[in-house]
Amino acid sequence: MRYPLFIMFNKYSCILLISFLMISCSGSKEFSGFSYDPPDVTNTTDKEIEKQPARVIGSGEPRIWASNDFAGARLNDFYMRPDSVFQLIIEPENAPINNSPWFAFKLWSDSARTANIELKYNEGRHRYIPKVFSRIDGQWELTDRLRVHYDSTDGSALMKVHLTTEPKLIAAQPLYTFQNLEQTLQERGILGKSFTHKNTAGMSKEGRPILQLDITEVPESQTAPVLAIVGRQHPPEVTGYLASLIFLEELTSDSELAQRFRQTFVIKAFPMLNPDGADMGHWRHNAGGVDLNRDWQNFNQPETQAVRDALTPLKEDPKRQMFYAIDFHSTNENIFYPINEEVETSPDNITQKWIDLIVEENEDFVLTVEPFDTSSPIAKNWFYHTFGIDALTYEVNDRIPDEKLGEVSRSAARQLMQLLLEEWEQMPVDN
Ligand SMILES: [Zn+2]
Repeated sequence: MRYPLFIMFNKYSCILLISFLMISCSGSKEFSGFSYDPPDVTNTTDKEIEKQPARVIGSGEPRIWASNDFAGARLNDFYMRPDSVFQLIIEPENAPINNSPWFAFKLWSDSARTANIELKYNEGRHRYIPKVFSRIDGQWELTDRLRVHYDSTDGSALMKVHLTTEPKLIAAQPLYTFQNLEQTLQERGILGKSFTHKNTAGMSKEGRPILQLDITEVPESQTAPVLAIVGRQHPPEVTGYLASLIFLEELTSDSELAQRFRQTFVIKAFPMLNPDGADMGHWRHNAGGVDLNRDWQNFNQPETQAVRDALTPLKEDPKRQMFYAIDFHSTNENIFYPINEEVETSPDNITQKWIDLIVEENEDFVLTVEPFDTSSPIAKNWFYHTFGIDALTYEVNDRIPDEKLGEVSRSAARQLMQLLLEEWEQMPVDN
């Protein structure tokens, strides 16, 4: 009799213990990562990264050459297999890491030929459509998108590519690096305007400047709301970066709306928060081996610190009022992550009102909206916790066609200016 009783007692205490654990788990809202994050993502102290040596590697006969000797490159090794397939080994900066396997390399041959090449990933599976760029009039122009045969057993991608003695650039997305950041901003007419001021918010881990653009026509003595724009925390997320640049084009345009916006608002933009990662061809992290968009509570990395230190003083500035913030990203769909509607912000529910306007004006634009609580250590939530404002994580589809990207980004930027102007007018403050 005693023996079974003992077991029953044990079972009972187990149930008690489990109930207690469940209560304690649901009681604390500790954020430990999104479903797609690797373990320990919120530990943002420095982690070791593996740097790829810059080199030109030849293989086969006649020789095919592969180079990673340029900003934004990612190619860790290259050789011809016994079955004559040329294998390109692509590795992340460190692991574990989200599946965002960036690649970029130049390829050419001693004589014209078609080669079978395979992208073989360590720590990841093929994701981005390989795009071929050829040098035309001194510029890398997109000339082809390669069809791949995806091997679901190991995540590799096999493709055919025609090579000549002229190097071709093959990359996961167009090459927008820190190295060509200023030139890009010049070409797009964002820089070189009397109301665009170029500043340095701080230095990256490897000593690249964190660019800050202050765009406004508001005199210092005038009370003004502030729109903050953050982007490119994750290097391969080029479509989100391009969306942010189109926003900046609209905000710096000659239109009556843009002028009115600049005469009312102050824009503080940080379009490339991870310049090291962009130039070093990283899959996601900065040179500290950390996902910057999980460092907005601990601030262990210089890039997030730079934005925090540039913006936090606005809290004490009687003439400036943080008003709204957008953090641009890319993923496999167009998706907005607003702050839950129930969370009260000031001004309130900007994102929800803005989404209605975007959807109304872009009927064939497929947009998913997934609101979140404010517990995760991401940029959007830092803006909310620091300033009490509404903010948005704005994600653009990796595969959005250029034309659609231009159309929707322009329309969204104009709608936002209009909306924010109206919201500011209605603010019950002494502006
Ligand atoms: Zn991202």
